[in-house]
Amino acid sequence: MLPRTFPARVLCYMHRSLSRWTAALFIVVAAATLIWHELPLTANGKLTVRFLSVGEGAATLVTTPSGKRILIDGGPDLTALEELGRSLPIAARSIDLLILSHPHADHVAALPEVMKRYRVKSVLFSGVGHTLPRYQAFLSLIEQQQIPIIIADPTEDLSMGDGVMIDVLWPPDAHSSAFPNDLNEASLALRILYGETAVLLPGDIGFASERALLSSGENLSATVMELPHHGSRLSSSTDFLLAVHPDAAIVSSDPEGQYPHPHPEVVSRLGALGILLLSLHSTGTATFVSDGHHAFLSH
Ligand SMILES: [Zn+2]
Ligand SMILES: [Zn+2]
Repeated sequence: MLPRTFPARVLCYMHRSLSRWTAALFIVVAAATLIWHELPLTANGKLTVRFLSVGEGAATLVTTPSGKRILIDGGPDLTALEELGRSLPIAARSIDLLILSHPHADHVAALPEVMKRYRVKSVLFSGVGHTLPRYQAFLSLIEQQQIPIIIADPTEDLSMGDGVMIDVLWPPDAHSSAFPNDLNEASLALRILYGETAVLLPGDIGFASERALLSSGENLSATVMELPHHGSRLSSSTDFLLAVHPDAAIVSSDPEGQYPHPHPEVVSRLGALGILLLSLHSTGTATFVSDGHHAFLSH
C-alpha cells in the first residue's frame, strides 16, 4: 500500500523559484500526521535530505539517488543514533561518508557510537584540534578502523558519482587558521547540490564567516537551508539570507533549553524576507526530497 505522503497544506513558490531555477520548484509542507519520515531511505533516483530532530544540536542524513548514505553531524546525545535506525533500512550497515562540521558536543556526541555500529567508508572534516572526549573518541575510531579521511577544502568539491555534489564552502583552509579560537566560525559549511536544487548546511558559523563567504563571491544559493548556529542572534544576517535566498529554513534547536533558539531577531529577519521557517522542535524530523528539478519538504 502506498504511504499517505500528500499534504493537507501545499505551498508553491513558483513565482520566486522561476527566477532562479529553469524548472518550476515546489516546496510542499506536509501535515504532521503524515508518516513520510518513518519510511526507510533507499535508492530511489532522488536526493533525500533528512533533518533529524535531535534537540539543541544537529544531525542530517542524506541519501543520494543511487543510495549512497551521508551523515552530517551526530547531535547532542544518542538521539541521532535512534533516528538513524528509524531512517535507514534494517539491512543498512554502512555509511559512505561521515561529515563532522566541528567538534562541539552538540554535533559530535553520537558519532563514536555510529562508527561502532555502521561501517563508515570515509570521513570529511576540518582536521581541527580539540580535546573534547567525544571528539577524541571519533579521532581514535578513525585511526583504529583505518577510515580514509578527507580534509575539507573549499577548492575541492566532492562528487558522489550520481549527480550529487558536495560543494564545500567553508572553512577557508585545512586547519581553520582564520579563526583559531572559535570552533563555530571554523565550522564546515557546505551545499549539497542536485540538478537545479541545493541544500545549505552552514554548521555553527556566525556573522564573521557569513561576511567572508559573501565577499568570497561563492554561490550560496539554496532551495532549503539550515539556519546557522541553531538560529543564534549573531548568525543569519539579512545579507546572508538574501544571498542564500531559500524557500524554507530549518532550525534545529530546543527553544526551551539552555539557549532559547531561534532568536526572535532571526525569526523576524526570516519573516521580513518571506522565508518559511520550520522548527524541528515543533515538527519533528523533516525530509527534503529532490528529483533535481522539483523539491518537496515534508515532516
Ligand atoms: Zn551547534
Ligand atoms: Zn558549535
